[in-house]
Amino acid sequence: MSDTIEKVKCLIIGSGPAGYTAAIYAARANMKPVLYQGTQPGGQLTTTNEVENFPGYPDGITGPEMMMELQKQAERFETDVRNGWITKVDFSGDVHKVWVNDVKEIHCDTVIISTGASAKYLGLESEQKYLKLGGGVSACAVCDGFFYRNHEVVIVGAGDSACEEAHYLSKLCKKVTMLVRRDEFRASKIMAARVANTENIEILFNTETDEVLGDGQVVTGVRVVNNKTNEKQEIPITGFFVAIGHKPNTDIFKDYLDLDDTGYIINAVPGTSKTNVDGVFVSGDAADHVYRQAITAAGTGCMAALDAERYLAAKDATFEVSTSNYN
Ligand SMILES: Cc1cc2nc3c(=O)[nH]c(=O)nc-3n(C[C@H](O)[C@H](O)[C@H](O)COP(=O)(O)OP(=O)(O)OC[C@H]3O[C@@H](n4cnc5c(N)ncnc54)[C@H](O)[C@@H]3O)c2cc1C
Repeated sequence: MSDTIEKVKCLIIGSGPAGYTAAIYAARANMKPVLYQGTQPGGQLTTTNEVENFPGYPDGITGPEMMMELQKQAERFETDVRNGWITKVDFSGDVHKVWVNDVKEIHCDTVIISTGASAKYLGLESEQKYLKLGGGVSACAVCDGFFYRNHEVVIVGAGDSACEEAHYLSKLCKKVTMLVRRDEFRASKIMAARVANTENIEILFNTETDEVLGDGQVVTGVRVVNNKTNEKQEIPITGFFVAIGHKPNTDIFKDYLDLDDTGYIINAVPGTSKTNVDGVFVSGDAADHVYRQAITAAGTGCMAALDAERYLAAKDATFEVSTSNYN
């Protein structure tokens, strides 16, 4: 083994709620975890101002503050938190190999993947502007819908998730306008029927977003265009929700791990964090296309650390039994 190769008992990839929670549990189990933060230290929550639904913060907390607290808690138990991007893995052998920034090679007994998933956006300049300002663009109805109680909002999307989010918003908002690019939903019939039958949801088919309108600080409306007639109209709203899917950050694992069609890592044993490779575990949004919340990410981070600890304990026990046969 060359000097440049480091050996690690538990490597955690990602610094969102899943990664830091896994680190807290792994560190307290004396697994001496090393955690790589990636290019977004703190994960997705660092892009939001208000988190009101994470238990333990009765007055709410900003996303960046909450993630600093989680990092501090992980470091308190001596998690080795590092900057760096995992560029390559090799899970073909007993020892799991991982490369940081294409240079540093690490050999790991266990790996916990907590790389999250990124929401897809339309890519319009105006959309990105108000997203960055925290001024009324969101990709998460469950997270942000509450801030738009009794307001009028627009949601873009045509799949099952979009229908589910539109329905969720309809219970909070005065009116939800749903923009569907084609002349039909991609969603299942039952989900499409549910939104069609909801009184305060209006569906505009063949309709795309031309521009998100605002006053420079917050969203005040959206200009939409009918892609059949080219007719444009402005809809006054305060919230612009995008529900056109997520991309799990799992490309580097695709040669070794079972992924679904979208790229989410598949749990080899449902109800655990196990993947199809022994010693490699997954937590958070990288394997969750259903809930995608900080609390569920944290919960599965805990599961991954416990599964990793039990995997190592079982391995040590096997080693002790097999060596004792020779004594
Ligand atoms: C704008 C917004 C607001 C939200 N508001 C709420 C809310 O109010 N309440 C709530 O419960 N949820 C909210 N969510 C959802 C919540 O943020 C996610 O469910 C949660 O962050 C998922 O946690 P995670 O640890 O799985 O992944 P993430 O938080 O996405 O973290 C992924 C981490 O992996 C790292 N990473 C990725 N690839 C690599 C790599 N190759 N090498 C090294 N590191 C890598 C990234 O740098 C990042 O640190 C919101 C999401 C968004 C986008």
